[in-house]
Amino acid sequence: MRPRIGKEVAAVDVCRCRCPDCLGSGEHPNKEIHRRLNLLLSRLDEHQRRWLAALESQKVGRGGDRLLSCITGLNVETIRRGRRELDASLAGCPPNRVRRPGAGRKPVKKKTLPSSRHCGSCSTGRSLATRRPAASGCAAASAD
Ligand SMILES: [Zn+2]
Repeated sequence: MRPRIGKEVAAVDVCRCRCPDCLGSGEHPNKEIHRRLNLLLSRLDEHQRRWLAALESQKVGRGGDRLLSCITGLNVETIRRGRRELDASLAGCPPNRVRRPGAGRKPVKKKTLPSSRHCGSCSTGRSLATRRPAASGCAAASAD
C-alpha cells in the first residue's frame, strides 16, 4: 500500500547511512539499526533530531559525533551542540517551540499611507481611505 500523502504522513527524505557497515555488500545488523534511526530522525523536528543524535553519540563514546554524523548526515558541530544542550538539561530550549524566542526574521512593519494620498482640496487632512462618503461627495472637489 502506498503511503498516504497528507499533513500527518508526508513523503519525507530519510537519510541514507554512509557508515562502512552500511556501505558494505554483506549483511550487517547495524544496517537495519541505522535505517530505523534515520527513519525516526526524519519524523522529528530539528531540535529533536539534534538531541537524539547527541544521545546516540554519547552511547558510542569517543568518535561518536563523527560516526553519528556519518550515519545521520547531520553536521558534526550540530551533534556537538546537541550534546552541550543535553548536558545543560535543555536549559534555554523551551518545549513546544521549534525556534527560540526572538529567532528568525523580524516582522515586516505595516507601511503607513503617504500624505499625498490625502485629498488636496480638503482641509480636513483625513485620509481618503477613511473618509466617510458624504451624500454630495467631496464638497471641495465637486465645487469646480
Ligand atoms: Zn550505517
